[in-house]
Amino acid sequence: MTADSTTTDIGTRRGDDQLRALIEDAAPRLAEASAQDILQWAAENFGDELIVASNMQDAVLVDLAARAQPGVDILFLETGYHFAETIGTRDAAAQIYDINVVNALPEQTVAEQDAAEGPQLHDRDPNRCCFLRKVLPLRNTLARYEAWVTGVRRVEAPTRANTPVLTWDDRNGLVKINPLAAWSDEDMDNYIAEHGVLVNPLVPAGYPSIGCQPCTHKPAPGADPRSGRWAGTSKTECGLHG
Ligand code: SF4
Repeated sequence: MTADSTTTDIGTRRGDDQLRALIEDAAPRLAEASAQDILQWAAENFGDELIVASNMQDAVLVDLAARAQPGVDILFLETGYHFAETIGTRDAAAQIYDINVVNALPEQTVAEQDAAEGPQLHDRDPNRCCFLRKVLPLRNTLARYEAWVTGVRRVEAPTRANTPVLTWDDRNGLVKINPLAAWSDEDMDNYIAEHGVLVNPLVPAGYPSIGCQPCTHKPAPGADPRSGRWAGTSKTECGLHG
């Protein structure tokens, strides 16, 4: 099932102090726990107040989360700039897994943004483009949840090397859970093979890190897998993870 973020119920949210206390209690226990145990804890403690972010590069986190909490909300940042293969992977995931896809939409369509900001903002000012089409929609969607789950892994980039399993997300004001923080590339490949997990067809076509189409290029053989993102600029992150 899929829905736009505006159609999701707001629900009853606990206060920040209660949520921070949950982190303090569980963080030491979960630091070395398996991804399955971390997600089980998340399902038990947050239930419907939990949302899981996926960029639909693969459905490893989706598969794990759906096993822990059938019907779990899956957050997809619908920037309007995705590859057709990524949209196809999202739609296939909605059919295959027991999940509820929540599309977080920017306030403006691509055409409206072009009219307001000038065309191809992603080339002229990618930080502002990411802010309008990713950071703000993420913040607006997360406001109605107590916790979010990401697929961030420590091996992905030096900026991610100290990613904790469980933390407080200051920017968005909710619990942030990174159950794959300790996973290697081999761990990902093994889980995909063992469970027949859905993978974006761009991955075997040579795109190891997939974002919006205008800002994603195929890295040179042997290059850093993320070097194809915002290639030729100093930008390395969307701004979603600090
Ligand atoms: Fe815009 Fe590129 Fe950021 Fe997508 S990745 S929101 S197209 S700057």
